[in-house]
Amino acid sequence: MAQADIALIGLAVMGQNLILNMNDHGFVVCAFNRTVSKVDDFLANEAKGTKVIGAQSLKEMVSKLKKPRRIILLVKAGQAVDDFIDKLVPLLDSGDIIIDGGNSEYRDTTRRCRDLQAKGLLFVGSGVSGGEEGARYGPSLMPGGNKEAWPHIKTIFQSIAAKVGTGEPCCDWVGDEGAGHFVKMVHNGIEYGDMQLICEAYHLMKDVLGLEHEEMARTFEEWNKTELDSFLIEITANILKFRDSDGQELLPKIRDSAGQKGTGKWTAISALEYGVPVTLIGEAVFARCLSSLKDERIQASKKLKGPQKAQFEGSKQSFLEDIRKALYASKIISYAQGFMLLRQAATEFGWTLNYGGIALMWRGGCIIRSVFLGKIKDAFDRNPDLQNLLLDDFFKSAVENCQDSWRRAVSTGVQRGIPMPCFSTALAFYDGYRHEMLPANLIQAQRDYFGAHTYELLAKPGQFIHTNWTGHG
Ligand code: NAP
Repeated sequence: MAQADIALIGLAVMGQNLILNMNDHGFVVCAFNRTVSKVDDFLANEAKGTKVIGAQSLKEMVSKLKKPRRIILLVKAGQAVDDFIDKLVPLLDSGDIIIDGGNSEYRDTTRRCRDLQAKGLLFVGSGVSGGEEGARYGPSLMPGGNKEAWPHIKTIFQSIAAKVGTGEPCCDWVGDEGAGHFVKMVHNGIEYGDMQLICEAYHLMKDVLGLEHEEMARTFEEWNKTELDSFLIEITANILKFRDSDGQELLPKIRDSAGQKGTGKWTAISALEYGVPVTLIGEAVFARCLSSLKDERIQASKKLKGPQKAQFEGSKQSFLEDIRKALYASKIISYAQGFMLLRQAATEFGWTLNYGGIALMWRGGCIIRSVFLGKIKDAFDRNPDLQNLLLDDFFKSAVENCQDSWRRAVSTGVQRGIPMPCFSTALAFYDGYRHEMLPANLIQAQRDYFGAHTYELLAKPGQFIHTNWTGHG
């Protein structure tokens, strides 16, 4: 008997939590898993006492669904998604909907969307962010794909998503084909950037000002009451305060080499592929790569000298404010670059993206959630065609207000030999973006000199000429 509103395949942590979240919001969910024994385990334990039902086969699962059937896959990204789709297709009818909520690559989503459309089925690739906790109590959801599916899944998606402000859901339709997964990928890249920026602030506090952990924690707590109010700043204060069972601070004992799963790298690769200067995320990925060369760095630290260590002479409070403003300005640059990449992807793939909606989707439920994202939403509400976040009046004056401090923080750090790849690249981007003239005229000339690549004159755009620079031949 058709009784379930939706099915979910994949009973690992994300799947289980999303089912319980849907159940809390009054939806009847049918659970299924490749290893079928996990269905009974789930019903007997985590889902005990709920309205969740189970199925022992895909056929049974499909028979229990109301039409159009809605099926969410939350399985390991890659082949597992294709395998389930292949098994589901013969069991479904035209207009039924398959949703992939895993961390799939956006190109795979586009391919699946097209293949299933040709078979009369609707496919949605949805970014799901916020980890286990988000899945259980309110994730950020970024659905894209075949838009015909949206009216049939909107109520469920927006009910279970995180809410901000006056109950606005952190979920809206993103765009066609792989747009949802592309936006999720950029979100993950931005997360890399936000984390690295905080690390650079911590490094300056620790090694320029020589602050103790308690003092740094208090500073981050204070910052969390400013424009920087965000989940990552909040947890950083908590991490700095945290003491191990021996009473010592835990953070300094942790090995300084960071791993990565690859989504930041994918964002940087896309940026290179589409020619968008998303420098901050790129540097954040490389900073993790450099951090992972721990053994090599130990060797190098014994041989390579930096500037001589010196006591900080200025006002500690005012330098802390410089660091805070450097962090805020760099963060604005990072998001401006992220939205530049989204804009370029929209052009490449013919997607119509709702940029304000995307900012709202990231405003709550996910790791990068922050008050700041509300400001980005406001900027796109003021002007949906905004070419660059930096050109919005609010962000323009925010950066202007920060820039003296930003430059002081970067130059002080540079003079004292502190690596700040993201603070520095953000400033270099700002200075490059605001320059009408860059020295690329010389690159054009050099390329023409050694390779006869031709160049274009400012006064004659579109006309390419060659000069015999040496007078030879
Ligand atoms: P996971 O460890 O990525 O995947 C486990 C699930 O995939 C199990 O249901 C497993 O079935 C199934 N599976 C694995 N290989 C399979 C195959 N070859 N064929 C069919 N099924 C297969 O689980 P997860 O951490 O809950 O994540 C689910 C998805 O959400 C992933 O795409 C993940 O990247 C994404 N995601 C995870 C997080 C997170 O915080 N964990 C956050 C956002 C998004 P069996 O039980 O039979 O092995």
